[in-house]
Amino acid sequence: MAANVIRHGAVSVYPGEKSGKYPDGNQVMVRGADTLVAFDTPVVANRLGSELLDADLVVLGHVHEDHMAGLHRLPHAPVHVHEADVAAAGSWDGLSRHYGYSVQVLDGMKAMIERDFHYAPRPDAVSYGDGASWDLGGGVTVRAFHTPGHTSGHCVLLIEPGGIAFIGDIDLSSFGPYYGDATSSLASFRRTLAAVPDIPAKVWITSHHKGVITERETFLTLLRAFASRLDAREEAIAQHLRQRPSTLAELVTHRFVYPPDRDELYYADAERRTIEQHLEALARDGRIVDEGGRWRSV
Ligand SMILES: [Zn+2]
Repeated sequence: MAANVIRHGAVSVYPGEKSGKYPDGNQVMVRGADTLVAFDTPVVANRLGSELLDADLVVLGHVHEDHMAGLHRLPHAPVHVHEADVAAAGSWDGLSRHYGYSVQVLDGMKAMIERDFHYAPRPDAVSYGDGASWDLGGGVTVRAFHTPGHTSGHCVLLIEPGGIAFIGDIDLSSFGPYYGDATSSLASFRRTLAAVPDIPAKVWITSHHKGVITERETFLTLLRAFASRLDAREEAIAQHLRQRPSTLAELVTHRFVYPPDRDELYYADAERRTIEQHLEALARDGRIVDEGGRWRSV
C-alpha cells in the first residue's frame, strides 16, 4: 500500500504527497531489535499499513496539527513529546495556547484540523527533556537535541548508528522558517539555526519538501539559504518603515510572510506574530522606534 520508501540503516522514510509538502509530511520509522518507533505522524500515516501500525512508540519532534495526523491510528502506542510542547499534545486547550491565535481563528482551526488532520489530542502524552535518549535494541539509539524556535519544544532526533538526524520543521524549504505561533520564537530560531550544524549528523531528514539529504555541503547550503529568509524578512520590514512609518496592523495588512493575494484562516495572526518579533529585534538594534503606536526608522 505504501508505494514509496527510502531506507537508511534502521530508518525508513515514507514520503508524503508532493515530497511531503504541507499539509502532508514525511513519515519516519526507526526499527531497533526490540522497538519500532514512529517520529511524528503526518497525513501520509493514514495511508500506511503494518509498517506504521506495528509501532511500539511515537516520539514527536514537535507539536503541530500536521505532525499529529496519524496519532488516532496508534491509540495503544505511548506518545513522547518534549516538555515544552507536551501540553499542546494533551488537549485542545493546550494546542490553542500553543497557536495563540484569536478566538475566531481558533474555532475555525479546530474544525479544519478535525476534518483534514484527524485531530485527536493525547492527554496521556509523556514529556521528555533535552538530551533524552531511547534504546531501541540491537545497538539502535535515538537522542533528542532541543532546537526551539519553530515551537518552544521542537527537537532534532538523532539516530545511531549512522548519524541520521530527523530535523522536523527546520525543513529547509524556500518559504523559510515558520515562527508565527505564540510559543514560536524568532530569537530562539536564530540560535537554533546557528547551532544545528554542530549536531553530529551525516544524514538529515526533514518533515517537508527536502526529504533525505546525505551530503554535508548540501545540507549547509540549504541551511544558509533557509536562515537567510529571516534576515530578508527583517530587511524588508526595515526598508518599508524607512519609506512609510506604519502601525503593526498596517504592516500585517501589507504582508511580509504570506503572499497578499492568498488567504488561509491563520495567515493574519501568524503574520502579526512574525512581524511583531522582527519589530522587537529591529528596536533592540536601535534601528526603529515606536512613536505612539507607529514604527519609524531612526
Ligand atoms: Zn510545525
